[in-house]
Amino acid sequence: MEKRVVAFAEGDGIGPEIMGAVQKILAAAQAPIEWSPVVLGKQVYESGHSSGIAPEAWETIRQTRVLLKSPLTTPQGGGYKSVNVTLRKSLGLYANVRPCIAYAPFVVTRHPKLDMVIVRENEEDLYAGIEHRQTDDVVQCLKLISRPGCEKIVRYAFEYARKNNRFKVTCMTKDNIMKLTDGLFRQVFEEISLEYLDIQTEHMIIDIGAARIADTPERFDVIVTSNLYGDIISDIAAQIAGSVGLAGSANIGEHGALFEAIHGSAPDIAGQDIANPSGLLMAAVQMLVHLGLPDHATLVQNAWLKTLEEGIHTADIFRAETSQVLVGTQAFADAVIANLGEVPLLLPSACYSMPAESEELPIAAVATLPRPCARKELVGVDIFLHWRGTCPEELAMRLQKLGPARMRLALITNRGVKVWPGGFAETSCIDHWRCRFLPIGNRTIVHGDILGLLAAMDMAGLDFIKMENLCQFDGVPGYALAQGQ
Ligand code: NAD
Repeated sequence: MEKRVVAFAEGDGIGPEIMGAVQKILAAAQAPIEWSPVVLGKQVYESGHSSGIAPEAWETIRQTRVLLKSPLTTPQGGGYKSVNVTLRKSLGLYANVRPCIAYAPFVVTRHPKLDMVIVRENEEDLYAGIEHRQTDDVVQCLKLISRPGCEKIVRYAFEYARKNNRFKVTCMTKDNIMKLTDGLFRQVFEEISLEYLDIQTEHMIIDIGAARIADTPERFDVIVTSNLYGDIISDIAAQIAGSVGLAGSANIGEHGALFEAIHGSAPDIAGQDIANPSGLLMAAVQMLVHLGLPDHATLVQNAWLKTLEEGIHTADIFRAETSQVLVGTQAFADAVIANLGEVPLLLPSACYSMPAESEELPIAAVATLPRPCARKELVGVDIFLHWRGTCPEELAMRLQKLGPARMRLALITNRGVKVWPGGFAETSCIDHWRCRFLPIGNRTIVHGDILGLLAAMDMAGLDFIKMENLCQFDGVPGYALAQGQ
């Protein structure tokens, strides 16, 4: 059988131990893979690449288009970007598919029927990593949500559900608070759900959704959500299934795929041969399926399930009542190898058979529909000031004296709450003020009017730190009201 070339990164912390174990199992299963090593993470940061990825690693990954990656440590503090996020975004790996399954009664869990797949958006949201310090007291992180981004991930989730005989897709957002960003995600979900009438749908606010995952996870099937929420709920789901060490994930895009465990580099247990390699192994099984090697995927997953059934467990899932033998990382791998060819007796056995089904989902089907450009009309501006005063009335007076303009001060907010006109003495204010200007009367305004306003502020010694145009799109306001407005 022709060998597939796959890039692999040993990663940091427990990474080399679990990668060694997984590669040993795949070799014993005679998976036709030629490994091409890339170095990512800590070593690369330390050699001066703040992205954590050297140019030659990019070359290998872009050639092989498939990467099996152990977890990487992102150094704390500014100046370093997460390699994980950079890889997912730079390679356009928009869908992060995270199956979380209970293996009861062999792995202790309060939720023996847990079997859900979290489909997490992977390219945008707060993970765009666009952060700024704006004032003495305020830092900001931009939450970017795009219609094409929502359409791709929502459609992927529905296609995944259909191909894998799943019956329901639950969308989780916080659209009661973030009406434009999370509101768009939900709206797209509702639009696309009309094309999948064979699949049940529901929407939940993320906070109650997360609570229900922790309480009654068996009610969920496929969950689609944005980047941050998906990251959090998949750790919850994996942990309550038995251990974060059990779940693997696939990052899928049009031009490639990256497979990894959902957990991190676990520096607290690194180098001790006690980490559970199962998460990375399950990621490798997803990879084998993706590579069109369903028989090898079936062989490995069944041997692994059999090993769990035999009670041969690493420390994270070892419990006196269900486990038989406490093993380390490498001994666990050896036990899986010894079980190659076996099938589990009680747990549902794996059976990946049809390559057509097992390939990544039809990427062509996720292309977004062309849309006419909306009629965009500038109707005002929000200018953010770094101002160390405390009295909104005083700031309003200064802003109203800025001289002849086509715009008037309509509103001042502090941390989103209206403090002028009106406002409560109880509202605590910091040094970050949003000042909304609207046209005087029915005048139309242009960018030059905003530039004039900014120049007048500069002359008046006011420190503007950011501005946002207020626009209507086909007559619909593209901005939120202030709290209390
Ligand atoms: P973590 O997932 O590494 O560890 C959380 C807890 O789970 C620890 O107690 C750890 O010992 C345990 N654990 C994790 N994996 C295990 C396994 N396979 N077997 C047994 N126990 C396991 O999370 P963290 O401590 O918050 O993060 C550590 C580092 O990992 C950070 O630098 C973080 O940025 C990074 N991280 C990387 C990825 C990735 O590469 N995709 C994902 C998450 C976190």
